[in-house]
Amino acid sequence: MIVIFLGPPGAGKGTQAAHIVKKYGVPQLSTGDMLRSAVAAQTPVGAKAKAVMDAGNLVSDDIVAAIVEERIEQDDCAPGFLLDGFPRTIVQAEMLDAMLTKKERGVDVVIELRVDEEALLGRLRRRIDETLARGDKRRKDDNEDTFKYRLQVYCDQTAPLIPYYEKQGKLKAVDGMGSVEAVSAEIDVILDHFRR
Ligand code: AMP
Repeated sequence: MIVIFLGPPGAGKGTQAAHIVKKYGVPQLSTGDMLRSAVAAQTPVGAKAKAVMDAGNLVSDDIVAAIVEERIEQDDCAPGFLLDGFPRTIVQAEMLDAMLTKKERGVDVVIELRVDEEALLGRLRRRIDETLARGDKRRKDDNEDTFKYRLQVYCDQTAPLIPYYEKQGKLKAVDGMGSVEAVSAEIDVILDHFRR
């Protein structure tokens, strides 16, 4: 089962991904997490990605695709995996299709989390408050201006993936504005179909 999660920043992809990992036993491949690890470990990729990420821009397609390609070679990805935050551009989607075709595999389903942008801003403010209340450091890209910019980047560069996957007959839209449980339940209905 190869699943892609699509949706603007703050749509709840990470939360729902955790649910899918638990329920369906497939690993979550979050390119954001992988890049943040690379930055923390001060690898050459991390050094290149840091400023780009802090500004809310997209890291280059080649770098991200290489990270994903290496990761999906690993044994735990053999039964399937969930892509969270990748692809983010049409070029990345084409690169993904090419790398999966080489392995005689393909994307099964693309779940688009549909959310209201104003409500996303509210969620972001709550997340920042909660992070600060816990005494944790907040992510550098967790502020309102960067968030609005990231939303714009999503609309410009990532939203074109919606018609891309729609044409392939793989897109399933889910209302992301419900409770975490309600959204999970909608996702389950879709994924139960692909379970193997
Ligand atoms: P995320 O945690 O998915 O919101 O990603 C955080 C940041 O990592 C993004 O704002 C981008 O700078 C970078 N990033 C994550 N995934 C990708 C991707 N597929 N393509 C380009 N940049 C990415």
